[in-house]
This record gives sequence, C-alpha cells and structure tokens, in this order.
Amino acid sequence: MKSNKNIIYFIIGLIFIMLFYQYFLPFDTKIKSTTLSEVATQIKEGKVEKIQVEGSKIIAELKDGTKLETYKESSANLSDYGIDINNVAVSVNDPNKGALWLNLLSIFLPVILIGFFLFMILKSSQGANMRAMSFGKSTARLFRGVKKVTFKDVAGAKESKEELIEVVQFLKNPEKFKAIGAEIPKGVLLAGPPGTGKTLLAKAVAGEAGVPFFSISASEFVEMFVGVGAARVRDLFLKAKKNAPAILFIDELDAVGRQRGTGLGGSHDEREQTLNQILVEMDGFETDEKVIVIASTNRPDVLDPALLRPGRFDRRVMMGLPDKNDRLEILKIHTQNKKMKKNINLDHIAAVTIGFSGADLRNLANEAAICAARNNKTTIDNLDFNHAIEKIALGPERKSRVITEKERKITAYHEAGHAVVSHYLENTDDVHKISIISRGMAMGYTWTRPIEDKYLHSEEKFKDEICALLAGRVTEEMVFKSVSTGASNDLREATKIAKNMVTIYGMSEKIGLVSLGERDEMVFLGRELAEHKIHSEKVAGIVDAEISRIISDAKKRSLLILKKNLKSLKKVAEALLKHETLEGSEFAKLVS
Ligand code: ADP
Ligand code: MG
Ligand code: ZN
Repeated sequence: MKSNKNIIYFIIGLIFIMLFYQYFLPFDTKIKSTTLSEVATQIKEGKVEKIQVEGSKIIAELKDGTKLETYKESSANLSDYGIDINNVAVSVNDPNKGALWLNLLSIFLPVILIGFFLFMILKSSQGANMRAMSFGKSTARLFRGVKKVTFKDVAGAKESKEELIEVVQFLKNPEKFKAIGAEIPKGVLLAGPPGTGKTLLAKAVAGEAGVPFFSISASEFVEMFVGVGAARVRDLFLKAKKNAPAILFIDELDAVGRQRGTGLGGSHDEREQTLNQILVEMDGFETDEKVIVIASTNRPDVLDPALLRPGRFDRRVMMGLPDKNDRLEILKIHTQNKKMKKNINLDHIAAVTIGFSGADLRNLANEAAICAARNNKTTIDNLDFNHAIEKIALGPERKSRVITEKERKITAYHEAGHAVVSHYLENTDDVHKISIISRGMAMGYTWTRPIEDKYLHSEEKFKDEICALLAGRVTEEMVFKSVSTGASNDLREATKIAKNMVTIYGMSEKIGLVSLGERDEMVFLGRELAEHKIHSEKVAGIVDAEISRIISDAKKRSLLILKKNLKSLKKVAEALLKHETLEGSEFAKLVS
C-alpha cells in the first residue's frame, strides 16, 4: 500500500514538472513585449537582426541581442504593417509544430493515467484477495530453541512446575514412558487467576523442552470471517504435526472454548466451529504423534466440558495465588536487577502482600523503583515499597482533589466508623491504615489487612465483614442524621457477600444447603438467565428476603457497636480531620 502511494506522489510530481516546463520556461527573461509599430520602427532604423513569425506571434531579435515580442492579426501580412521584409531576415515557424508533442501528450496522458489507476486498483484488490486466501493460515509464532525463559524464572508454583517438567520429559525421552506402556498426555490445561504466571510457565516449557513451540492466543482464531477460526486451528495442528515432537500453546483458551449453547455472549457460530475443530484435532492425533497441547485460561469453570474430558486436556494444572513463601521467591526474582538498600526486608513485604498475584508483585517491585527514582534516590528503600504497596492495593492518591470542609468531616466520620467497628468485631482483619485522602474513586479509605493467608472463611467472618462495611453509612446516619452517596461501594460489597452466603455457601437456614450457583459476571448472563429458570420465583423471593435480613441484622449490630463506642469514634474522627492519615498503631492507641 505504501509503495502504491509513493508511485502516485511520483506521478503527480512529474505532472507538475511538465506543466512547469510548458508554461514557465518559454518565457525567456530577455524577451520584452512591445507594440507592433515599435517593432516596425526598429526595423526601419535597421536595428533588427532578424524576425521570427510564428502564427500571429512575432519575435524580433535586435542586433544588441535583446528580443522584442509582439502580435499581429494572424491573417495579415507583415507588409500590411509597413514592415519591409527585404530589410530584415524573416523566418516563419509553423506554430503547431513545436506544440505537437504537447498536443499528443494532452491526448494520451489522461488515457495513460486512467489506465494506471485502473491497474493500481486491480492490483490492490488482488492483494486483498491474496490476504483473504491466507486468513486460514494460523498466525501462531514458532519458538525454536530460543532459550529465554526457564523454569528458574518461575517462582513458587512447585506442583505446577513438576507437572510440566514431566511433560517436557515425555517429549525428550518418550521411549522411557512407552516402555512401560504409558501414553503421552495430549493436553495440559493451566488454570488460575490472572497474573499467576500461566503464560510465563508455558514460555518456560518452551525454553526447556528443546522442541518447536507454537504459541497462539485463542482470540487470534476468530476473525471477521466465519470459518477462519476452524481453518486456522486445522493449519496450526498441521504445522505442529509436521514439526513433531512439538508443543502447541493456546493462550486464553476461554476465548473460544466457552461452553457451547449458552446463547448470549456473542456466540455466533464461529466460536463454536473453532472449538469443534480444536476438539476434532485433539482427537485426531495418532497415539504416537508427539504433539502436546498446552492451554491456559482463567475461567476453567466456563470451558466446554468436552474440552476437559480425558484424552483432550486431561491434565489440569492449577495455578493459585502465591502464598507467603512463593511471594518471597517471586519478589526475589523481580528485585534481582534492582538497586536495593541493604535493610530491605523482603520477608516482611511478602508477609503483608496477601492476595497479590505474581504480576502484582512484579508491578510492586517496579513501582517501588519508579518511586525511588522520582525522589532522586540511588537505591530503593522501605518507604518506596510501602508507597508502592499502598498504590497497588488502594489506587493512586489524589491529594489535589478539592473537597469542602463539610465533605471532609463526613468522610472522617465515615472512615472512623469503619475502623472502629472493625476494631471491636472479632472476626475482621486488623486496621492497618485510615485516611481521608482520596484514592482512586474513594473519598477516603480504611485499610484492613489479614495477618496471614487464609483459605477458608467462616460464616461469622462474613457477617462481621458486612457489619464493618455498613459501619461507614451507619455512622453518617447516626452523627449527621443524613446520608450521602459515599457509601455506595460499601453497600455493593456488603450485598455481594450476603448474596454469596445465601446462594453459594449455604449459610441461610431458609434456603438450606442448596447451591444456586450464580455467577455474577455479565459475560455469562446467558447461562445465568437460563439457570434462573431452574429455580422458582418463590426461591428467588426467599433469596432476596434472606439477603435483606442478613444486611439489616448487620446494620443493627453495627449501630450497637458505634453507640457503645461513641467516644472512640469521635476521637478517631477528630484525629483524622487533624492528621488526615492514621497508621494502625496510632489508631490502636486512640481506641484502647
Ligand atoms: P497469566 O497467568 O495471566 O498468564 P503471566 O504469566 O502473564 O500471567 O504473568 C505476568 C507476569 O507476572 C509475568 O511476566 C511475570 O513477570 C510475573 N509473574 C507471575 N507469576 C510469576 C511467578 N510465579 N514467578 C515469577 N514471576 C511471575
Ligand atoms: Mg496469560
Ligand atoms: Zn466506606
């Protein structure tokens, strides 16, 4: 396309140059235009060397070299004007002769140009055809023998790594497994939350396996044209088989591997065809074909069951959020090439970053380095890490946001309410920091933080959490006798917890131990609608009533605690208004 443009510019330039020559060059600067009688006088005086007649145009060349130009009626003779042609040399040019090539050009140029443009158009549409023909080719990238990422670069995730190391062994040394009669696995599905290192692990496999590694993102299967996805899958598997033993990596498999027949969610047939093709190809492997498919997804729950049956992705590797030791290892990897102060306690940082994924931790190390650089430090210190943790956990500070004194006061009491109620409840996390400085969307924040990784949550904990979430709003009601919009997020969170308690965790007596299995994500609206039909309107009504009951119980409890500890509440709120931010220890002193 670009070269086409260049040619067009070239042609336009050429036309301009030609026009320039045609119009400007004949104007000899020495030529003066004058009257016919002037020329006649000059001739009479014998000053003229020669004259040239070109149709009606007369150019007289004087003996001193200057040229005069004038016009006569084209039918008239020179003698009609009193010019004696015996006194001077006269040459007559055919006026049309010189312009002949120009005339020809003016006839043919448009034809040539039109022809040229037609040619270009034809050519470019042919190019599009060519591109359409190659749509069916997969866009997978082949990594052969690039040894960039290795298992060493993936911290933690020990079990997942072991599974994959085994897969690599299969490929490197298939005889050992075949001798016993073990079949080579066909597919490995890496499943886990975003940022837990699924793609990284797959890259490590590529680095370690020493066999061709084809990588493609599932979304690349799907194009504007129906049928492309299936064709690409076919092509991809063909390529892999040709290069066997090989590994084929499909990233974000859920883009095409969603459960079929869910209706909504943009399921035009294309995705299903692509998925079907994947299923067919995975079945089609002959038993001794050494192609292993690795796929990653963060929604294994929405994948089509057909993908997960033995013989396809029969191995599932779960990648969980890292625990404390894993976080420490990940931090070590990502702080390796950063200049760190000696006294930095990575162990402590790993301990307080509960809930951070590998990607978060990498981001944390980077944010800390940026923070240090911004403050013109040469090494990263603990302060930078604290800043970075807060930024990632709570969003960036917005100190410049202008709020009125009244808003400030409301915010202070709102946050103090959260903190005080959290403090007096048994099952909530410790208050780590309170602030009335805006962060992200929030006007202020109360940051509570668990002390250790927890995998099971009790009903009491959920109830207490709801209590603490409602406390901000309850405080506003109690202190100011009016309510603001500031609590909308709290209410949403509280409702979500209450809903999960009722519908997923079986924590409501009225509903009982029934899982109503709702997934609250928009994408799965289709399935959710279908699911809703399974439960009667009556059950839905009870669910709603139960949620309201849990919320209003929590509200009552919250109010009780606040009334009992009004003094503490006031102290904390006043301190917040004065200092804007309170650390956990300062808060503990105020309420003890
Ligand atoms: P996803 O699971 O969403 O595919 P990625 O593999 O893309 O996550 O991880 C993003 C980044 O986070 C990686 O490039 C890596 O730098 C970092 N990371 C995640 N998990 C780990 C880990 N276990 N060890 C080291 N780095 C990790
Ligand atoms: Mg990924
Ligand atoms: Zn709040």
